[in-house]
Amino acid sequence: MNKDVIVLNCGSSSVKFAIINAENGEAGLSGLAENLGNNDARLSYKLNGEKVQRELPAQADHAQALNVIQQVIDKTGVKPIAIGHRVVHGGEKFKQAALVDNSVLEAIEKYAVMAPLHNMANLKGIVTAQKAYPELPHVAVFDTSFFQSMPQKAFMYALPMELYKSHGIRRYGFHGTSHKFILDSMAKLLQKSVQETSIISAHLGNGCSVSAIEQGKAVDTSLGFTPLEGLVMGTRCGDLDPSLPTILQKQLGKTADEIAALLNKASGLLGISELSNDCRTLEDAANNGHEGALLAIEIFCYRLAKYISGYMVCVPSLDAIVFTGGIGENSSLIRSTTIGYFKHFGIALDEQKNLDARFGQGGEISTSDSSTAVFVVPTNEEWVIAAEAATFS
Ligand code: ADP
Repeated sequence: MNKDVIVLNCGSSSVKFAIINAENGEAGLSGLAENLGNNDARLSYKLNGEKVQRELPAQADHAQALNVIQQVIDKTGVKPIAIGHRVVHGGEKFKQAALVDNSVLEAIEKYAVMAPLHNMANLKGIVTAQKAYPELPHVAVFDTSFFQSMPQKAFMYALPMELYKSHGIRRYGFHGTSHKFILDSMAKLLQKSVQETSIISAHLGNGCSVSAIEQGKAVDTSLGFTPLEGLVMGTRCGDLDPSLPTILQKQLGKTADEIAALLNKASGLLGISELSNDCRTLEDAANNGHEGALLAIEIFCYRLAKYISGYMVCVPSLDAIVFTGGIGENSSLIRSTTIGYFKHFGIALDEQKNLDARFGQGGEISTSDSSTAVFVVPTNEEWVIAAEAATFS
């Protein structure tokens, strides 16, 4: 039976698209329309292994891009059964994926207060795609849903209760589709049901988060009200003394928006290293003795190790620590430095297995006598979105 699903991820100036087989996760087509609204708007895609690049009309918007994407999809001859839309913020309403109707569109717009750039772009993508494919079910898959199982002690900030009650100020978590994929994959690898599987999952890409998952349910996660909290990331600072933004605003004479840009775009690995947000560049530089790169990697791993150890208190049935995302899947240095902090917990990596796990090659990387297993699992967020959307077809 046909199981092809269109997966769309609309950003403020981009549309990421793919056709994914919901049964096996294979992508027949995947591509990106970028620089939308600018003169150099363009489209690139990979169809059955072949790469194609083409210009879009200058200033092309989401609708124009989707129109061209629809032509590309039509040419493949694939007959999609559903469209899965990545939506960043689903507030407390969406504990799972939802078939899009007017009430869902209204809720996505309402939660845009909490993720203005993302949710409005996601909404635009859905409305435009509905016009292009009126006959298909459109399904919203939320980054936040997976974390709706977190207990109140994990999701509340120690702020006046009124802020939670009236403004929804709490920790929501993001990267939910990736952590869900890792959980499902680990259940298969460990030959357990998802409900019996307990992991600490570290998604390390440009954005980074670590999640505590006890018996198939997320019980804590490091990203918070926005994707700025928690770990050190490519350009984001992660945890910080909450007084700092106001102090910096006063001392540097910057506006609130400028401080937000500093914390989101100029901090993290980039800010510390004064070199790059790209882990590969930092590893090369560190090998050549670049002090900023060495320090950035050291702080990144130390913060991650502290989070993982902290989450051990809420995952008593821990089966494995799992690394994923571009850094987690490829960097043996980040993995070995991080797990190095767990020597006195009896957790150790098999050096060769750790070196071998890269470029899509995952598996167990701990020694046979490690007190907790450590795995690398390549993530596939699009497959999760396709699989969720297919259930509505
Ligand atoms: P995104 O969050 O944008 O999806 P990715 O998951 O692709 O990002 O991760 C990007 C990060 O992965 C970058 O820091 C990049 O340097 C890192 N990365 C990719 N390949 C390697 C590698 N072979 N070694 C170390 N880091 C890598």
